[in-house]
Amino acid sequence: MTKIKEVLQVLERYAPPAYQESYDNALLQVGDPEATVTGVLVTLDCTLEVVQEALDRGCNLIVAHHPVIFKPLKNLTGKTPVERILLKALQHQIAIFACHTNLDHVHNGVNRKLCEKLGLQNPKILAPKTQILTKLETYVPLEDTEKVLAALHAAGAGQIGDYSDCSFRITGTGRFTPSAQANPHIGEPCQTEETIENKIEVVFPAFKQAQIMRALLKAHPYEEVAHYLVALENENQEVGAGMVGELETALSGEEFTRHVKESLQISTFRHTAWPTEPIKRVAVCGGAGSFLTRQAKAAGAQVFLTADLKYHDFFEATEHLALVDVGHYESEVYTKELFYDILTKTFSNFAVELAFTHTNPVRHS
Ligand SMILES: [Zn+2]
Repeated sequence: MTKIKEVLQVLERYAPPAYQESYDNALLQVGDPEATVTGVLVTLDCTLEVVQEALDRGCNLIVAHHPVIFKPLKNLTGKTPVERILLKALQHQIAIFACHTNLDHVHNGVNRKLCEKLGLQNPKILAPKTQILTKLETYVPLEDTEKVLAALHAAGAGQIGDYSDCSFRITGTGRFTPSAQANPHIGEPCQTEETIENKIEVVFPAFKQAQIMRALLKAHPYEEVAHYLVALENENQEVGAGMVGELETALSGEEFTRHVKESLQISTFRHTAWPTEPIKRVAVCGGAGSFLTRQAKAAGAQVFLTADLKYHDFFEATEHLALVDVGHYESEVYTKELFYDILTKTFSNFAVELAFTHTNPVRHS
């Protein structure tokens, strides 16, 4: 028996809520997190038809990329499509969870999936986020160094790119005088003490600060643990918007057109003139990505493939950078495969179903 909240915890570990945009409203939208999961339906959008599909297929949890609720509701009477979705979900005790810009921003998220579909190698985040890393410096007796480091790593410190358990340390002399009331691990009250200590430095995602500090205070032998927390300006290469990667072989504009249609299973898309040089380096952003055109240029991309480009956005193209709009739905529909993979890897005691319902409201005629 698995509770809905246990499923949500797995998704939140994968795409931490702290990485969603300030305007976003991801996470649990409707439902009781304590209810037992009967099945999960994964989808790009949660529409009324999707709620019906969940009901028909015995799923009481819908995991969607796009949140249903964006603006605060004053009442819930069924007068708008959003309210009708919520009412139906409530009536049938179906929970709705959204994993939105937080899933856009993680390395293995929406854009990684899009890169995979397009066969882009070595994908890197196009616009890494800054100010989301913290450095901890602390001072530990030599014999306790391994124990403290192990506790910090277990709590999530020291992961840098593909490298885990990263730390730096230097040995020096600590000096202190315990008060008469103190109960020092080393030395005696009221006597100045000097001891050899390691200064340890580790970096971690800022949102993990509370758990890192709990781990430090638990593992450290001192009554008063000297430490500094430093907010870093550094980019976090693992978190941010868009991605850029390379095609295995360079393609002409005509070949690239075919490649996009085949890879994304679409019959038409909008784009500017292709660059004169064969296309190898491609930037992507699932959903509305015009805000990243400058970064795509700076990253040396020859094509920036995204969605929701307006007429004037297309004028940002140059002879070296073509802009492609494949459609919002078309650029993100594979997100449901991502949810499916994450959940089936962890859970086997209930069904995870890919929604059949086609949720794209846009038709091409
Ligand atoms: Zn979207």
